Amino acid sequence: MNITKSISLFQEAQTVFPGGVNSPVRAFRAVGGQPLFIQRGEGAYLFDADGNRYIDYVLSWGPLITGHAHPDVVKAIQEAALMGTSYGAPSPLEIELAKSIMDFMPNIEMIRFVNSGTEATMSALRLARAYTRREKIIKFDGCYHGHADMLLVQAGSGVATLGLPDSPGVPSTVAADTLVANFNDLESVEALFKKWPDQIAAVIVEPVAGNMGVVPPLPGFLEGLRSLTTQHGTVLIFDEVMTGFRVHKGGAQTLYNIKPDLTTLGKVIGGGLPVGAYGGRREIMQLVAPAGPMYQAGTLSGNPLAMSAGIAALSLIREEKCWEKLEQAAGRLEAGIGEAAKRAGVPIQQTRVGTMFTTFFSETKPVDWNTVKAADKIQFGKFFQKMLENGVYLAPSQFEAGFISILHTDEIIEKTLEAAMEAFRTC
Ligand SMILES: *Cc1c(COP(=O)(O)O)cnc(C)c1O
Repeated sequence: MNITKSISLFQEAQTVFPGGVNSPVRAFRAVGGQPLFIQRGEGAYLFDADGNRYIDYVLSWGPLITGHAHPDVVKAIQEAALMGTSYGAPSPLEIELAKSIMDFMPNIEMIRFVNSGTEATMSALRLARAYTRREKIIKFDGCYHGHADMLLVQAGSGVATLGLPDSPGVPSTVAADTLVANFNDLESVEALFKKWPDQIAAVIVEPVAGNMGVVPPLPGFLEGLRSLTTQHGTVLIFDEVMTGFRVHKGGAQTLYNIKPDLTTLGKVIGGGLPVGAYGGRREIMQLVAPAGPMYQAGTLSGNPLAMSAGIAALSLIREEKCWEKLEQAAGRLEAGIGEAAKRAGVPIQQTRVGTMFTTFFSETKPVDWNTVKAADKIQFGKFFQKMLENGVYLAPSQFEAGFISILHTDEIIEKTLEAAMEAFRTC
């Protein structure tokens, strides 16, 4: 595989960007080697600067459920651009995307668009604090909710503890209000409620964890969170930035039939352009300015290009059987990978919910961050490199979700499985 151009671009990039990238996960540090510089995307494929072609299972880390440069999405963006790229005033497109989202997720009674998932979660937490007039929040070890200060908090090992900042620059006073519980462990949540009664504004959770690799909720976990938060007058926030339209058309809240108070969205709803959103119960959303006192604003929020791309992507998903076919394709991929690993005698743990999946090189069933950590990163790194050599682009870390798009055909999945068969034999 010739990556000469990517190598020289990476050298140049390192002189202008910290680590040569504009988001750390892109740097390939967890798997060794260096990032590929991408020239273009088309359907299920990525093409790098040297002209190599890869089947893409990263899909911009989730958003591209309709694949790269889907003609409908491209057309929507082109048409929107001709009408002006930003107004700083309301437009009908915002209502159209909002209604489309609410059709899929009826728990969202009112919504506010922002520009990223990070903005969505930080705004939702501000809102939960404004609504409850409390300051502490609970998050789960191994769940990622964007890079806002209060969410960049590391968990103590095993037992739920007071958060310590996960990054220099996060004030300890901010981190101190973030309590950390174990995913899939209701007792760890109950203990925090017991210790800080009437002080917890919100519980924020990835209802299917995706940012430690895919870890589904155990039966009763989400139900338990719903009843504990109701009991304590705490706002339950489902961070569906990743799971929205991915684990089910209507997100995890529809799949598991749980009604969160607030939902955060991003990724898929922007059709590949930068969009985030938070929404939920009308009574809570009415506190957002200018309807209410909780301030939150954005110069480019509701951007017409982004709204148009989102509208186009969601209408593709709404087409008859579209999502169902997508999920079936994900199922075939999962079954094929399982079979290939078995034939090669490599022990793996597979997790998949809808169109999100992870292959853990592990003998331990992944249920939380502690069990996830048991996976063999070195072995994953070898598998990753071999897949890349064979033209399959996976997320460059063991602890990430894989995604497919509606343009990943049976034939493309078959090619992926051939590559996997060979990769398992060498790792
Ligand atoms: C990606 C992600 C975010 C952050 O979204 P950005 O658009 O990267 O800011 C937040 N929460 C979850 C669950 C995510 O997967």
